[in-house]
Order: sequence, then structure tokens, then C-alpha cells
Amino acid sequence: MAYSQSTESSLIIQKYSQKFCMIYKPQVNNVIKDSDLSSKMILQINKDRCCAEIETLASISSCEGPAVTRILYSTEDQRSRQWLKGLMNEIGLTISEDGLGNLTGRWTGSDENLSPVATGSHTDAIPFSGKYDGVIGVLGAIEAIRSLQEAGFKPRRSIDVIQFTAEEPTLFGIGCLGSRAMSGSMTVSEMSALRSDQEDDIDKLRKAAGYHLPLSDVLLDSSYYHGFIELHIEQGPRLERDKLDIGIVTAIAAPATLKFELKGDGGHAGAVLMPGRKDALVAATYIIQEIEKAANNSESPDSVATVGIMDIHPGAINSIPSHVEFYADIRDINLDSRNQMVQYIKDSASQICKDRNIQLKVSTVNADDPCLSDPAILDTIEAACVEASVSYKRLVSRAYHDTLFMSRICPTAMIFIPSESGYSHRPEEYSSPEEIEKGILILAKTLAIMSHDI
Ligand SMILES: [Zn+2]
Repeated sequence: MAYSQSTESSLIIQKYSQKFCMIYKPQVNNVIKDSDLSSKMILQINKDRCCAEIETLASISSCEGPAVTRILYSTEDQRSRQWLKGLMNEIGLTISEDGLGNLTGRWTGSDENLSPVATGSHTDAIPFSGKYDGVIGVLGAIEAIRSLQEAGFKPRRSIDVIQFTAEEPTLFGIGCLGSRAMSGSMTVSEMSALRSDQEDDIDKLRKAAGYHLPLSDVLLDSSYYHGFIELHIEQGPRLERDKLDIGIVTAIAAPATLKFELKGDGGHAGAVLMPGRKDALVAATYIIQEIEKAANNSESPDSVATVGIMDIHPGAINSIPSHVEFYADIRDINLDSRNQMVQYIKDSASQICKDRNIQLKVSTVNADDPCLSDPAILDTIEAACVEASVSYKRLVSRAYHDTLFMSRICPTAMIFIPSESGYSHRPEEYSSPEEIEKGILILAKTLAIMSHDI
């Protein structure tokens, strides 16, 4: 399907018909009557402005471009937050920050008694990654609000733009720290126990970065937000392959991460004969094959399991590996099938190690539940796509995002835009200005409807 006004980025939000409003929440009294919304409104996304801001943010990095590195609480992270607050100030958002550094800019609505609608994502970047992961959801939200303001739109519910602290696990080894804490998926004592790889505790690091408010205040209650929506790059090849503009995310697969520690016996590679060996690495390779088999044999098409990191001790050519440590990342959108894979892997590992006389310790690093998107928000996004004549499909997200945790306190959904060749977490990450523009347009339209949903 073509983009209807492909020669210009000017699109018309037509009169919101009763039918369209009914899609969002099928209640007779839910018809939007607000004069600001029902009047004809020209919504113009300025893709050049937004793309220039993406470049500016990418330049605030601790590595040489085009790669981007921005680690939580680093100098670059602090500079990027200051710059972002400047953008929020320019468009009149009211800024607040919590004790972890979650940054919120609020466009105050006409009825402050109503719970706000929220959107946003993250701007931290793993070492040597790209410009778009997370950034599109923050700078895209700023552009969506600017375009709504320029079109004369007035929200009824306030609209919050959130920059979540540390979606990436780089500093503390745990992903989605900010949204995890906001949604109460992590207790204050769990937060306080976090240590960086340099063994610095979180209180020292956050306070050095200027965040002194108590961690107990980070938590939001479950009626705080009316809904949350996140714009993000797909980080996969499906939209590009199918030549589609928008992915409407129906569910997010959640990972379980298992840590394996194997202890065998070392020794000289020439001196110790094969019958006497307790080689921890050989045992690990058999476990890894079972991990792959668990995903291959699962009845769920969305099952995946990966080992991407391993430490071998002592790590010499002529020495039998005595200790091995590795992690398995196991995902599915179906919790039962993910848990079945986890159980199969644990059982197989203990059998393999028993047969080989290897000591085994398996610990669960995290096991988050998958989430399903809110059907009403999905319908609203779809209606916005139809109205804007952009092509779309519904799909699941196999990467997890801040939305996964926000779904525990409010209705949520995500909007994906294509990623060139599915690249992500590398400098080649790319989405075109036109793809970004369409994503922001759909976000703006969806926010407009949600902010008037009573
Ligand atoms: Zn991301």
C-alpha cells in the first residue's frame, strides 16, 4: 500500500468519525466530541528536523562515529539528558526526574484530573551500537508532540514523554532498569543491591550523576497512566522483507536468562589421558546442543534459545578446561512453552554433568513474563494506519522493551518501523527519514486519540 500523500508530509487527520472513535473503546458514550479534535487538522511531521536531532544525539557518544556508545550515568549520558531537557523545554513540556534518572516531559492536558497517556523509550546505547535503537521512541515522541502543537491540537489527557533509564543492561547487567522499577517489578532492596562491573553500588553512581531522590519514589501505581505506547525500530527483517511501513506489536516475548557454572578437573593437555578427564568445556558443548534442541523441538513457532557468551578457565591451548561459565537466553511469547524449554534445558544439563562427573550450578538470572498488547490500542494504531494510507501488519516483538514492564501497570502497545537488513546493536543500524516520518505520524495520531479517550 502506498503512502497516500507521498510527495509531501502533510497529512490530514480527518474528522474523527464515530466509527473511528468506537474502535478505540466500543462504548456508546465514548464518542469524541471535543471541538479541537473534531475540527480538520493538518498534521505535518518534520522529518528533517527529527533526523537532524538524531544525528546530534548520535554525536554525544564515547566512541568514534558512526558507532554510538552511551552508558548509563556516563558523561555522555548526562550530556545527552541535558540536551534532551532543552528540547523538552522548547516545546513547553514540564520536566521531572526520579531517583534513578527516569526523565519525563509532560504536555499538560486540559483536564488534569484524568490520568495521562505516556510514550517514550530509551537513549542509552550499548558499546559500538547504532543511532536509532530507543532514540526513535524518544525523539520521535518529541516530534509527534511538536507536530500536534503546530497543528493546533490540544490534548485533554496530559501526554508524557518518558526517557527510561538504562533499557540496556550494560552497567548493572539487568535490562529495562527504569521501567522495571517504575512498574514495581523490582523492589527497592533489589535496586539497592545492584553493582556495576567495577563493583560500584547504584547509590554511589546515581548520586554522582545528580539523582538524589529516594528509590522508593520511582514506583508508579497501577492507575497512574491511562496507556503507554512506544515507537521503536523493528531490529529484525520482517517489515523490510514484506515492504511494509509499520509493524503493530501484538505481544512481546520475554527472555529467561540462565547462568551455568561447570566445574571439572584441569590438567596438562598432553599428560592427562582421555579416560580420566573431567573436561568442563566438553560438557558445556553438549548442554549447548540441548539448548538449541529445546527451541527446535518446541511446538511454539516463536521459541528461540541462544548462548552468546562463555568464559573458559584457564583458557590456554595446552590446558584442559576446569571451569566454564556461560549464559543461555531463552524466549517465547508463550510463557508455558518458554518455561517448558527452561525445564528441559535444566534437566538435560544436570544429566550431562552427572554422566561426566562435572559439578553443575544453574541459576536463573531473570525470568520475565511475556506481555500481550491492549486490543483497543492495537485497533487505534491500525485505524491510524488505514487513515494515513500506510501499509502495516501485526507482529510479535522478539526483543524486549520498556513496554514489557509498562504493561504491568497500564494498557500498552508498540509501533515498529523497518530496520535496514534487520541490523541493530551495530553501527549499520538504519531506518530512512521516510520510514521514521511514517512511524511518528502513526504515533502522533494514536496519541491524539488516546489523549481524548474518556
Ligand atoms: Zn531499544
